[in-house]
Amino acid sequence: MWHSILRENNWHGEIWNRRKNGDIFPMWSDISAVKDADGQLTHYVATCTDISSRKSAEDQINYLAFYDPLTHLPNRRLLLDRLEQAIATCARHQCKGALLYVDLDNFKTLNETLGHFQGDLLLEMAAKRLMTCVRDDDTVARLGGDEFVVMIEHLNFSALDAATQAEAVGHKIHQVLSQSYPIGPFEHHNTSSIGITLFGNEALETTEEPLKRAEMAMYQAKAAGRNLLRFFDAQMQVMVTVRSALERDLREAVRQNQFVLHYQAQVNTCGLTGAEVLVRWQHPKRKMVSPTEFIPLAEETGLILPLGQWVLETACAQLAAWAVQPTLAHLTLAVNVSAKQFYQEDFVTQVQATLVRTGANPQRLKLELTESLLVTDVESIIIKMSALKSYGLSFSLDDFGTGYSSLSYLKRLPLDQLKIDQGFVKNILTDSNDAAIARMVVALAESLGLAVIAEGVETKAHQEFLAHIGCHAYQGYLFSRPLALEDFEKFAQQY
Ligand code: C2E
Ligand code: MG
Ligand code: MG
Repeated sequence: MWHSILRENNWHGEIWNRRKNGDIFPMWSDISAVKDADGQLTHYVATCTDISSRKSAEDQINYLAFYDPLTHLPNRRLLLDRLEQAIATCARHQCKGALLYVDLDNFKTLNETLGHFQGDLLLEMAAKRLMTCVRDDDTVARLGGDEFVVMIEHLNFSALDAATQAEAVGHKIHQVLSQSYPIGPFEHHNTSSIGITLFGNEALETTEEPLKRAEMAMYQAKAAGRNLLRFFDAQMQVMVTVRSALERDLREAVRQNQFVLHYQAQVNTCGLTGAEVLVRWQHPKRKMVSPTEFIPLAEETGLILPLGQWVLETACAQLAAWAVQPTLAHLTLAVNVSAKQFYQEDFVTQVQATLVRTGANPQRLKLELTESLLVTDVESIIIKMSALKSYGLSFSLDDFGTGYSSLSYLKRLPLDQLKIDQGFVKNILTDSNDAAIARMVVALAESLGLAVIAEGVETKAHQEFLAHIGCHAYQGYLFSRPLALEDFEKFAQQY
C-alpha cells in the first residue's frame, strides 16, 4: 500500500478492518496523496466503504453456483470439478474411484401425492442419510430432482477389490434409503436404484464418461426391477456377485466346519522330518476349493481368525496323537499363520492355550509367517515371536524372496528357517535370475544362522540343483503332494 502511494500517489483495494465493537469486516479503501503547489505532500485523503453486504452477496452467488440450495450438497458442476481432480489423483497414486448414481424409486409419485413441501423434506432426509454412508473426503452431490451421485475415492487399484468396496457402500446406501421417512403424521417408504462404475482405469478419461456410465447402470437397475444395484460393466457385475456368494458360503463353512487339513511332506537328507498343513474347503456343492481362492477372502472378512484357530487346534491335536506312535512321534507340523491372525493382541496366549489344551509338544510345531507381516511395527512382532519361542516352537518365513523384507529387519527377527518360494524353484534350472536369488537366500540363511527349505520341488533335477547350492531340505510334488491324513500317515510309515 505505501509503496503504491509513495510512487503513484494513490492506492485502492480491500482490507480487513475492525469496528469499535471488535467486529472484523471487509472494507474498500481508496487513498490519495494530496500535494501543495510546490509538490510537497500535505495530507492524505481516504474514502472507505463497508463492503460486507456485497461480499456476502458474492458468497451467496458462489454458493448457488456450486451447491444445491435445498440439500446443501454439491451440485453437478462442483461434482464434475471434483471428479476431474479425482481422476488425476487416481492416475498419480495408482488407485481407483467409483461413482454411484442413486435414484429414488418412487419419489415422483410421493411428490405428487404428498405435495412439494413434503417432497422437499424427503429429499433433505435422503441427502443426510447419504452423507452417513461415506467418509469426509468423499462427495455426495445432488444432480437435481431425486438423483444423487456419490463419489468415493482412494479405492484399491485392483478392479475387483475396488468394485467390492464400492458395492459395500452401495449396499449401505440401499439400506439407509429404504428406512422409513417420518413426514407429517405418516411414515413413508422408498427404495433406490443404484448404478455403479469405477474410474481411474484410463488416465485420459473425461469427466462426463464415468458419469454417463453410472447413469446407464442406474437405468439398468431400474429396468431390472428397481431397488437394485447394478454395475456398468456386466463382467464386473458377475465377478462381484460370485464373490459375495463365496463370502456367504465361506461364513457358512466356518460355522459348519467344512474344512479339512492336508499334509505335505517335508524331507531332508536323513528322511521325512514332518509336514506342512494346508487347509482345504469341502464345499457342499463344489469339489475341494483351493486355499488360494478363499484365504484372501477370509483375510478380508476376518473369517481367517476362527479358521486359522481351527487349523492350529487341529494340527496341535494331531501332533499330540502322533506323540504316542513311535513311527510318527518325531514329525513336526508347519502351520501357516496370516498376518491378521498374528496381529491379534492375544495371539500369544491363544497359541499357548491351544498347546496346553491339546497337549502338543511345542518343539514339534513350526509357524509359517510371510513377509507381508513385516510391513508394520516390527518391534511388537519381535516381542510376540520371542514370547512364542520361549514356549519352544519355531518360525519359518514362507514365500521368501517375493516380498520386500528389509534385510536389517530380517537380522533382528527370531526366525529359525527361510523358505525359498516355489516361484524361484520352478525355473531354477533355466532362469539364471531365479537361480541367483535361490543362491542368495541360501547364503543369507547361512550367514544369519538359519535353516533353509525349498518348496515346490517337482523334479530330481530341482533337488540336485538345490543340493548343489547348499539347500538340503525340501517340500514338493517330487516327494509327495499334500495328502489327506490317512494317506499321509501311510506315506510317513513307508518313507
Ligand atoms: P504356501 O504356504 O506357500 O503353500 C505351498 C503351496 O504350494 C500349497 O498350495 C501346495 O499345495 C503347493 N505346492 C506344494 N508343492 C508343490 C509343487 O511341487 N509344485 C507346485 N506347483 N505347487 C506345490 P495350496 O495348498 O493351494 O496353498 C496355497 C496357499 O494358501 C499357501 O501357500 C498358503 O499361503 C495358503 N494357505 C494354505 N493353508 C493355509 C492355512 O491353514 N492358513 C493360512 N493362513 N493360509 C493357508
Ligand atoms: Mg506355507
Ligand atoms: Mg510358500
